[in-house]
Amino acid sequence: MRHIAEFCDKNSISYQSNVLLKNISTFKIGGIAPVIVSPDCSEKVSCLVSFLKDKNVPFKMIGNCSNILFPDETLDYVLVKTDKLQKLEFENDRLICGAGIILAKAASVALKNEFSGMERLFGIPGTVGGAVTMNAGAYGSEMSCIVTETEYVDLNGDIKTVSGSDHDFGYRHSCFFDSGFVTKTILQLSKGSYSEIRSVMDECTAKRVSSQPLDLPSAGSVFKRPEGYFAGKLIQDSGLKGYSVGGAQVSEKHAGFIVNKGNATSADVKELIRIIQTTVAEKFGVMLETEIKFF
Ligand SMILES: Cc1cc2nc3c(=O)[nH]c(=O)nc-3n(C[C@H](O)[C@H](O)[C@H](O)COP(=O)(O)OP(=O)(O)OC[C@H]3O[C@@H](n4cnc5c(N)ncnc54)[C@H](O)[C@@H]3O)c2cc1C
Repeated sequence: MRHIAEFCDKNSISYQSNVLLKNISTFKIGGIAPVIVSPDCSEKVSCLVSFLKDKNVPFKMIGNCSNILFPDETLDYVLVKTDKLQKLEFENDRLICGAGIILAKAASVALKNEFSGMERLFGIPGTVGGAVTMNAGAYGSEMSCIVTETEYVDLNGDIKTVSGSDHDFGYRHSCFFDSGFVTKTILQLSKGSYSEIRSVMDECTAKRVSSQPLDLPSAGSVFKRPEGYFAGKLIQDSGLKGYSVGGAQVSEKHAGFIVNKGNATSADVKELIRIIQTTVAEKFGVMLETEIKFF
């Protein structure tokens, strides 16, 4: 990894070495990342991706690590983090967001300026880049409702832009899983009233607090919603609510969540997922597909 440090020093790109992944993931699980690089502009992301590709160094992009299960072992690839991509500015009714902006921050700025569109997404604990990539959604809204244009760096290191239907948004899907790394996105908002936006935010927060195990580390809903069912209900009806493997437990509050009771390992979570999938498939003939990303 020394050549990466040298490259970063030469190009004024910040990086951290030997980072404990449990300290940066909402699941509080994971071994060590030998290096995490944080470019602060699209040009530096581009130059970094070209360099890594050129040197055949594998890498993955991360946002706030709220939908990721890291392995227990030391990673043998580089993580590129968006935390330094912090542009956030209005252009009339469009909010231009760097990929590293936390959704709650963008939503709060929208609220302050009386713009509607983000109030249902406010409680999702991810970055704008992660949310665009995942097409994150909640309470009847999803990123695809407000994203109009996105700048990304493709797998060759070229800076490109997509707009409209070229985002290929679907349920927890976008084109970026195959084509590159989001650096900036434009959100189309509409003028609203402060009190109405605030009241929708408060309503969604209250629903979240009452239904989700927010007091324990997790990566949110582990499984995608199977067509015609709710994953949490299937898991609950399979008798698995509260079931544990090591430190990983099917949440007592919401069976669609796996929570870390203190010392869960990645292996514990994977074994618990395997048990849930097998049990639900046997009882209901439904194969649950994971939403969380295995790194
Ligand atoms: C308590 C809790 C509640 C949650 N509630 C919801 C919810 O209501 N709705 C919902 O949809 N999700 C929810 N989630 C899951 C998660 O917050 C979202 O998926 C979020 O959008 C992930 O953003 P992130 O920045 O944390 O991405 P990460 O977890 O860091 O990454 C997720 C995936 O996106 C990729 N990625 C991240 N940034 C980029 C980028 N800039 N360019 C390209 N690829 C990128 C990563 O490689 C990875 O594959 C919840 C999670 C928790 C812990």
